[in-house]
Amino acid sequence: MARVVPRPEMTLAEKAYIPEILRGMRVTWSHFLKGFNEPETLPVQSYPEVQWEIDRNYRAKHRLMKRPDGEPRCVACFMCSTACPARCIHIEATESDDPRIEKKPAKFDIDLLVCVFCGLCAEACPVDAIRMDTKVIALAADTRGKFVATKEQLLDWNPADYPASDTQSQKAPGGLLNAEARARWAQGDAT
Ligand code: SF4
Ligand code: SF4
Repeated sequence: MARVVPRPEMTLAEKAYIPEILRGMRVTWSHFLKGFNEPETLPVQSYPEVQWEIDRNYRAKHRLMKRPDGEPRCVACFMCSTACPARCIHIEATESDDPRIEKKPAKFDIDLLVCVFCGLCAEACPVDAIRMDTKVIALAADTRGKFVATKEQLLDWNPADYPASDTQSQKAPGGLLNAEARARWAQGDAT
């Protein structure tokens, strides 16, 4: 059954519109002037000078994890590129020099303009070789080609930018656990 919505009767001032417009303008101007007099009270952030704090779990630009000797952890198994719904990961495999490892990537490119940042590549990787925890979310370039992240770029990260509790990152060259991990790696520990 239809419900009758009661419509309140407008006063003479409301029917004239002008007083209501002036009332609305008073609110607008009070906010406008407050912004000039007390800018620190405005709910805005002076981006890009002040960056937002990005959570480590946020799916940002990718990085390739490194072994203690600096080589990529990636074993070129193609599981990430197979799982990728955007088909934007391009890998070329080659034989590894290390007898403990069968393959390594000769080429590992991600087209960040095509990527939909779904995170399935990081989920699919069986050896924790690709992550999206760089906190880099502002991607800018002047040509399309510069949006293709190469293997060298994906490997270019510093363990100091990652927490001490992130043991996999700290085992990489320059990390807090690198010396110990390197020694174990030399003794044959391939984890
Ligand atoms: S985040 Fe998703 S779309 Fe981007 S490379 Fe990984 S799997 Fe592909
Ligand atoms: S990043 Fe991981 S899933 Fe992708 S090819 Fe390398 S080892 Fe395989």
